[in-house]
Amino acid sequence: MTRRTLRDLPPGALDGKRALVRVDFNVPLAADGSVADDTRIRATLPTIKYLREHGARVVLLSHLGRPKGSPDPKLSLRPVVRSLEKLVGAPVEFIADPVAGAAATRRLPRGGVAVLENVRFWPGEEQNDPEFARTLAALGDFYVNDAFGTAHRAHASTEAVAHLLKPAVAGFLVERELRYLGEALERPVRPFVAVLGGAKISGKIDVIEALLPRVDQILIGGAMASTFFLAVDFGVGQSLVERDKVDLAKALIARAGSKLILPRGAVVAPSLARAAERREVACDQIPSDYAVFDIDEATRLDFRAHILRAKTVFWNGPMGVFETPPFDQGTRAVGDALVEAGKRGAVTVVGGGDSAAAVRGLEARFTHVSTGGGASLEFLEGKTLPGVAALEAA
Ligand code: ADP
Ligand code: MG
Repeated sequence: MTRRTLRDLPPGALDGKRALVRVDFNVPLAADGSVADDTRIRATLPTIKYLREHGARVVLLSHLGRPKGSPDPKLSLRPVVRSLEKLVGAPVEFIADPVAGAAATRRLPRGGVAVLENVRFWPGEEQNDPEFARTLAALGDFYVNDAFGTAHRAHASTEAVAHLLKPAVAGFLVERELRYLGEALERPVRPFVAVLGGAKISGKIDVIEALLPRVDQILIGGAMASTFFLAVDFGVGQSLVERDKVDLAKALIARAGSKLILPRGAVVAPSLARAAERREVACDQIPSDYAVFDIDEATRLDFRAHILRAKTVFWNGPMGVFETPPFDQGTRAVGDALVEAGKRGAVTVVGGGDSAAAVRGLEARFTHVSTGGGASLEFLEGKTLPGVAALEAA
């Protein structure tokens, strides 16, 4: 799905024009209402900076949380405006009402920036309502979508508005997502290794199915591996498993053949709280009163060796309960192996909400860390993302 991007627009199409930009400012807020983590705001800066430098007036749209179509003061974008002002080093105007706001957008100076209140305060947003989309469209002269994380939703600010305001193009963040989740993984430099983990197979079946024909190897970790262990008749004790997915795991093993690599062993403990009693066991020796919480050292080394031989690596899903050290070590080892592979010239792509959280602060060491969460997985599954489809073809 190659899309026209901001870079494709002639400079004259930007100068003095109002750029209506859908961004993802769905940031975590601290108890005092301030922005707890500005990663997503910083991710939009290249697009905002480019527009300002080319004389555009920048009007930003985003949702925050799930206010269910009516105003919720706790989910206002006002705190984001303060963060954004610091990051762009310029005043940012706040538009509380989209109807009255059109006049304010016309008064913005060239290079000026405004943020509309949380679009989900209005019911028309999630209904993809054409009327609400028209209200939004009146806030700009052309449209840019830089919110990959909501591109899998057909909402007024991601889909309907893109049909009303032309040109409708991808921002730099969406452009990167399409390049690295799309082209790089569709026509990968080989060997192509995928590393999949996380809690459940059920949420990842379509990703596994989509990746299997493309990859040279698929390494499985996380709780997902335990369902595969059951499929080969290993006991998994108290581990998190999906017993109703064992047949599916069997079918995947049969289809994948030697492409599918399971852990050799696991770090097990009686419970997360009893980490002091943890030990490493071979994957066919999991005690009945213990649960798997991470991949073991032998698996880390094995996975590392596979990853270092790859020229393209895609990673989704933690290898263990990384939120609770010491069960983060397998996840860290895989992250380190990707970084090492990247230094040796491999393209390394990380996708998924928890996986991105696991490498927070280290993003620059990977070729691409998707900000997409659910959207990145749907994209990999080959699904059409309405917010991307609505943009002009390149
Ligand atoms: P992503 O958001 O990157 O797609 P998932 O949501 O699929 O990843 O999975 C992340 C969750 O999987 C984490 O909360 C992690 O604690 C959990 N997890 C990983 N391994 C295990 C395990 N062995 N037992 C229980 N939970 C696990
Ligand atoms: Mg998750």
